[in-house]
Amino acid sequence: MNYDVIVVGSGLAGLRAAIAAIHGGASTAVLSMVYAVRSHSVAAQGGINAALGNVDPEDNWKNHAFDTVKGSDYLADQKAVCRMTEAAIPTIYEMEHWGTAFSRLPDGRIAQRPFGGAGKQRTCYAEDRTGHILLYTLFQQSVRNKAVFYDEWMVIDLVIEDNKCVGLIAMDMNSGELKSFGAKAVIFATGGAGRVYGASTNALICTGSGIGVAYRAGIPLKDMEFVQFHPTTLFGTNILITEGARGEGGYLYNRLGERFMKRYASEKMELAPRDIVARAIRTEVLEGRGFENAYVHLDLRHIGEEKLNERLPGIREIGLKFAGKDIVSDPLPIQPGQHYTMGGIDCDIDGKTKVDGVYAAGECACVSVHGANRLGGNSLLETIVFGKIAGDHAADYIASRKDAVNQSLLKNKLDAKEKFVSDLQSSKGKEKVGVLREKLRSTMIRNVGVFRKLDEMKEADKTITELKERYTKISFTHPSRKFNLELLTAMEMETMLEIGHVITEGAIRRTESRGGHYRVDYPERDDENWLKHTICTQGENGEPVFSDSEVDISIWEPKERKY
Ligand SMILES: Cc1cc2nc3c(=O)[nH]c(=O)nc-3n(C[C@H](O)[C@H](O)[C@H](O)COP(=O)(O)OP(=O)(O)OC[C@H]3O[C@@H](n4cnc5c(N)ncnc54)[C@H](O)[C@@H]3O)c2cc1C
Repeated sequence: MNYDVIVVGSGLAGLRAAIAAIHGGASTAVLSMVYAVRSHSVAAQGGINAALGNVDPEDNWKNHAFDTVKGSDYLADQKAVCRMTEAAIPTIYEMEHWGTAFSRLPDGRIAQRPFGGAGKQRTCYAEDRTGHILLYTLFQQSVRNKAVFYDEWMVIDLVIEDNKCVGLIAMDMNSGELKSFGAKAVIFATGGAGRVYGASTNALICTGSGIGVAYRAGIPLKDMEFVQFHPTTLFGTNILITEGARGEGGYLYNRLGERFMKRYASEKMELAPRDIVARAIRTEVLEGRGFENAYVHLDLRHIGEEKLNERLPGIREIGLKFAGKDIVSDPLPIQPGQHYTMGGIDCDIDGKTKVDGVYAAGECACVSVHGANRLGGNSLLETIVFGKIAGDHAADYIASRKDAVNQSLLKNKLDAKEKFVSDLQSSKGKEKVGVLREKLRSTMIRNVGVFRKLDEMKEADKTITELKERYTKISFTHPSRKFNLELLTAMEMETMLEIGHVITEGAIRRTESRGGHYRVDYPERDDENWLKHTICTQGENGEPVFSDSEVDISIWEPKERKY
């Protein structure tokens, strides 16, 4: 099976990349662990940012860029941010022309709601189901453009020769068979690694398996220690309660009935960036002002039933079904939860990685446009803008590459992977992979979470080393290869342990606090020593090896972040 371009992942970034590659004349296939419309993008609620100026006429893409850079705690690359925020406006109109039914202002123009960390009201939305509407639009366009889909295929290895892309190895999840695919260009659009953590808002498939494939193939990861904890996830299940709920006017209250955000961000209050609000909620709980020592209240009652039904119908449904609370008459119990992977596969402003023909886009990539903290509404934007850019560049690259793909190398890799999977399946240890996975998740959320302490992180590091050892002694309940979830989990687990390790060691190494990374022992930002990206490659012995790279601060000088 040979294609010019293979896109791994069928979320927003993957589908947009596929459409661009097809438009560029490349034969293109999309491989994905799930059917396209089940990718995590479908769950995005609150909206997508673009300075259309429909509500705030004086807004422009430069304001949007500045808010993004400030929100990132000055770790985002500023030219990359400008590229994204300038492209945002035509991107929204293109999506509208392709069929996205955005919510409207009374005069018919696209509506925009306030969002965290934004100086203007610029988040476009479709009720509280924005990801769903966007993903269906791009899926329809992919079908229209005759993209070839391999649904329920898991990519497990990348094949490279002389620093050039040759193709990949993937498992057909239904039969368990491995196959090789020849491709001169591969675009990773595999989403985030949220499920390395417990208490995550992410779909179960967001285990970072694509990030792991790139890492094991020698491609560096960037800024992995920056993990976003969303302030408002439903207590108990950690289902996301969109920032749009605060955008529409929701208040946060502690047990004493105080709107406590006045202590942490007196101007922006509930609409301060996520890292600040998440820390505020944790502080309230840790200092004894939370409910049941665990959560605070998000109160939407004053907004009124009519507006809540119009703007937040999905949130009303989630509250009723998963907490037995009606937002019209009850406050929601909420707590912070893991939400977004700011770091990812190191790539440049065109989505290129260090291997020729290998690209990354969307949440799995780190361009970097989010730096140390992503603003709400910027991720959906990143997926579509940089998905297109990666697809365009991959198509150009194909046109310039004349050599044939090395089929015998693909065959050798396939045989090696086949042996790896059979060895894994025939191992006779006593460990169960599900148990190891839960241990990893609970360790990460407890020890490398909102507030980070050196001794706790070191303990996590030790646990991960132990888990890696235990992983060599797993056995399986059932020998079948056919949709064997335990086997698939075992294959993902290899990656999850690596990613957990890179996050933890990166967080130990970075002795400052910036955006989503907060060190109790180093509470200040330290531009002199740490205004730089963390780069991590897998060393010969499998251990992470760290270095740094420069941050582009060519437009705005870093300043203290106040809200
Ligand atoms: C609940 C929730 C709400 C959100 N709300 C918003 C919002 O309102 N606004 C906003 O800007 N952002 C929001 N985000 C973030 C945003 O939705 C995501 O960052 C974005 O959709 C990611 O898109 P993606 O295309 O990069 O990846 P995803 O949509 O996660 O897709 C990843 C794809 O990769 C495939 N894949 C992964 N590994 C492999 C493999 N090894 N082999 C084959 N295929 C693989 C999967 O099958 C999937 O198709 C939200 C996130 C969550 C979790």
